[in-house]
Amino acid sequence: QAKSDGRNTFCFYNSDMSHQARDRLLLEQALREAIASNGLSLNFQPKVQLETGEVFASEVLVRWNHLTQGFISPSVFIPIAERSGLIADLGRWVMEETCRYLAEIKQSGLTILPVAINLSVHELEGSGFAKHLMKYVNDYDLEPSLFEFEVTETGLISREEMVIESLKQLREAGFRVALDDFGTGYSSLSYLRKLPLTTLKIDRAFVSDITDDKVAASIVRTVITLAESLGLEVIAEGVETKEQQSILLKLGCTKAQGYFFYKPLDSLEFRKLINH
Ligand code: C2E
Ligand code: MG
Ligand code: MG
Ligand code: MG
Repeated sequence: QAKSDGRNTFCFYNSDMSHQARDRLLLEQALREAIASNGLSLNFQPKVQLETGEVFASEVLVRWNHLTQGFISPSVFIPIAERSGLIADLGRWVMEETCRYLAEIKQSGLTILPVAINLSVHELEGSGFAKHLMKYVNDYDLEPSLFEFEVTETGLISREEMVIESLKQLREAGFRVALDDFGTGYSSLSYLRKLPLTTLKIDRAFVSDITDDKVAASIVRTVITLAESLGLEVIAEGVETKEQQSILLKLGCTKAQGYFFYKPLDSLEFRKLINH
């Protein structure tokens, strides 16, 4: 009895694994095609002044509408892109498409706001990354100060030296650098001090707990104080309610993103919002 159970479990596990592996391979192949043939698109989530809701920038978020499976979340396909090496092509596509969009706005004489682009640590590997980004900026006749790059804490720590060097090059080229999802990783204060950052983004997890959890509130207060003493800007992610807005204001936060203000918008909606 036990033996046959074991064998069944083993067989089930085995075929399940191969299904998973096959599904991932199919997704990877489809993603490769989507990158090559404009199957991706960009959304823009407004970044606002917390008090007034005034839009001052946006975060670029990649979207993939799979031919048969419909919308697939970046939290599913970004890891696939990272594991398969497709992330470099995907990142280039996002950067160029963002530049194209900004150049188009500039040419029509409309208001052009800064953008934040998410980067995987994998993209920071290898030298000359900043130069490569500058090429797009120059080709589309834009200014590097229009761009902020968001990197997450978790990715950074494992490749400390290489990453710090790449981030320094980004700053020297005139780009801004934000630490995304701050508070969810394990970076120490001494590590934080070594990173050439302009901005800390307080993770949504702290924001969502802030209304009924005193500890979450004091963590947020501490992060704001820390940012100030390091000379960094601070922005709260995932603000969903009026209550969270008012507590964040009381804690000294001045900038935010979140569904309470705006969900991510497609490029047309975003342009309408800015130039109404
Ligand atoms: P992230 O950079 O931390 O982006 C914030 C995520 O939270 C986005 O999810 C956004 O749609 C969502 N969000 C914004 N406001 C709210 C809110 O009020 N409530 C809730 N529940 N969610 C909110 P999304 O678009 O699914 O992206 C997930 C992650 O995928 C991003 O997290 C980022 O790490 C990654 N990602 C997205 N686009 C790119 C890209 O172009 N390149 C790379 N390397 N990664 C990307
Ligand atoms: Mg981000
Ligand atoms: Mg985030
Ligand atoms: Mg995230």
